[in-house]
Amino acid sequence: MDLKTNKAHAMIAEENRHYAKSARINYFDLVIDHAHGAELVDVDGNKYIDLLASASAINVGHTHEKVVQAIQDQAAKLIHYTPAYFHHEPGQQLAKKLAEIAPGDSEKMVTFGNSGSDANDAIIKFARAYTGRSYVVSYMNSYHGSTYGSQTLSGCSLNMTRKIGPMLPNVVHVPFPDAYRTYPNETLHDVSVRYFDEFKRPFETYLPADETAVVLIEPIQGDGGIVKAPDEYLHWVYDFCQEHGILFAVDEVNQGLGRTGKMWSIDNFGIEPDLMSVGKSLASGMPLSAVIGKKEVMESLDAPAHLFTTSGNPVCCAASLATLQVIEDEHLVEKSATDGAYAKQAFKKMQERYAFIGDVRMYGLNGGIEIVMDKQSKTPDADAATKIIYRAFQKGLVIITLQGNILRFQPPLVITRDQLNEALQKLDDIFAELDQGLIELPDDLGNVGW
Ligand code: PMP
Repeated sequence: MDLKTNKAHAMIAEENRHYAKSARINYFDLVIDHAHGAELVDVDGNKYIDLLASASAINVGHTHEKVVQAIQDQAAKLIHYTPAYFHHEPGQQLAKKLAEIAPGDSEKMVTFGNSGSDANDAIIKFARAYTGRSYVVSYMNSYHGSTYGSQTLSGCSLNMTRKIGPMLPNVVHVPFPDAYRTYPNETLHDVSVRYFDEFKRPFETYLPADETAVVLIEPIQGDGGIVKAPDEYLHWVYDFCQEHGILFAVDEVNQGLGRTGKMWSIDNFGIEPDLMSVGKSLASGMPLSAVIGKKEVMESLDAPAHLFTTSGNPVCCAASLATLQVIEDEHLVEKSATDGAYAKQAFKKMQERYAFIGDVRMYGLNGGIEIVMDKQSKTPDADAATKIIYRAFQKGLVIITLQGNILRFQPPLVITRDQLNEALQKLDDIFAELDQGLIELPDDLGNVGW
């Protein structure tokens, strides 16, 4: 099946005259007209299964009736009033709810923003204010956002510094554990030891632990390629923070809200963070983020330290309350775990058949499938991965790559079993085509992905 993209093609050509490149990563001619559940429909009438839901912030599926209703009801009552001076009920209820469902037993407080990026900026602010220290540690290959602060934290976009630097001072990046490309005969324990040594190295040379405010980590990296920190490693880092009075913060923007088969990705480790950032699916794509933190840490700042005119917008908060209710009512955390295990098994079987599937990582309905030259060298094969996602698009699947060669498998958590089977079967067929050298990329495609 080849899609019709005539209308989309013309619309994108026109759009390119006005829409700046700074916010657009080149993929294919998809102009979405409407969407429901896990299905997207484009302006040419083509239907797609969406495998990119975590990025597009719709864990509970597109246009969920209850979320739509909550948005309509709230918009009819009060669209906005700046949060700086007065109060509204959806914001009060949501702060209470998030404080209750955050990991651990300590008392929590919440502040709102508009994006995952500003939430991560706020983590730096709260950590510096609370500890009176300036250094911040984050990870290579991480993605934390696009404001100056969050972009400085992001290991993924360090190349940006050449054009837009200087970035925020006193941010140190340490390597994230890689349990796939290891030394011969290394066990997971050896990997943890090696990377914990790497983590400590700056502290042993130039980085004073008693001047370090916070370590921020995605316990399972999203844009980094769906890579999970080894359990032992993360506990050592946490213990190190405890020992030195450094706050331990997690970014749940991509991997939170049921994506990993737990409510929060840090729940996979049984650790209670001091601070965490949430966004994206929090309000099903309505612009809302939150920082949730231990009460004493959150009390370290007064307004206007972190305050935007539209933060905690009541329509967004109502959408978020409805989203959290849907996650609970439809048991989406459990469904993510079950469907994820099912999809993992299917991909593992494909891995046995195709030499170019190097690694299958799947934590909940949340997968990173590494496309490599061969299983021995593990050399990333971005060209083959691009062929796969291009062919997938032609066959009605929306899937993109991470780091050039990693297929990102993150459907809405409400995906039906039939849709999941259809997506897996189509990917299997595409792998077979690739194996036989049948997929060609068009000459005018340009550079695809980051
Ligand atoms: N943190 C993580 C882990 C993310 O994946 C993202 C978005 N990709 C962000 C933060 C930034 O969120 P936003 O784009 O809403 O600013």
